[in-house]
Amino acid sequence: MDDKNMNLSEVMKDFADDAKCRAYIEALRWPDGIVCPHCQSKKIYRIVKRDQLLCASCEYQFSVTVNSIFHDTHLPLWKWFIATVLLCESKKGMSACQIQRSLGVSYKTAWYLCHRIRNAMQESTTTKLEGTVEIDETYVGGRKRRWRPKSVKKVVIGIRQRNGDLRMIHAEDAKSSTVREIINANVGSQVEVIMTDESQIYPWALSKIQKNKHRTINHSKQYAHGDVHTNTVESAFSLLKRGIVGTWHKVDAKHLPAYLDEMCFRFNNRKNPYLFRDTIIKLIQTPNLEYKELTAQQAEPAA
Ligand SMILES: [Zn+2]
Repeated sequence: MDDKNMNLSEVMKDFADDAKCRAYIEALRWPDGIVCPHCQSKKIYRIVKRDQLLCASCEYQFSVTVNSIFHDTHLPLWKWFIATVLLCESKKGMSACQIQRSLGVSYKTAWYLCHRIRNAMQESTTTKLEGTVEIDETYVGGRKRRWRPKSVKKVVIGIRQRNGDLRMIHAEDAKSSTVREIINANVGSQVEVIMTDESQIYPWALSKIQKNKHRTINHSKQYAHGDVHTNTVESAFSLLKRGIVGTWHKVDAKHLPAYLDEMCFRFNNRKNPYLFRDTIIKLIQTPNLEYKELTAQQAEPAA
């Protein structure tokens, strides 16, 4: 099977039932043949009737989904696969309501499913951004309410390496000291140019060495001055805002980092023809996230 550039219709065709999904999970997990997760033996019997595998050495019985997020799931695997391709395909993200309608599951199931896929999409690499880097900040959520003068908007710092990766980080506040920590965690020492707008945050947030590489653009006058602009990080912000306004409606502060990771993961994989396969691999490698962990210190998800 060719799993390059998988779209919804191909996933529906190739993974129409759970047996096909299991075969794919098996091929991704054990490309060189099944290995017992208990004793690493390669002598494995199939118990076809029960979709189980049996280790000939230690007699451990397991399924292809053992130790993965798919283990003990009550949802058919093909529904997981469809939700995954939908989340990979949609640039602005998918709301739990849309998944609920598309899969014909309850809202709670759809919400939980989206969160687990989103959680698996987290980038595992922590390589720092170098070259030409754009930094900008934006504020999301917290609709203005007359009786609540203090806004509860959340700060998001966007950092983008030109022609490279994007990071979006939920900052506690927009103070220079907070932004400095975020910059140092994400921007490498080999950075050549740092581009920001004329916000007063940056002169204070940047180190001495970084300041020598700092170029600013005055947004009240122009959006770009030659090569100096922050347009690529701003276009990512506009996608994020459309996602929040149009798709997710209301993002709880607790879940904002996961939504930001999902957006970045999709953005950074925009040219990856194996995005669907790679997301399934991440799901296989991610242990299950309990519903009660996701909803701790929070009321029921808003419908
Ligand atoms: Zn074994």
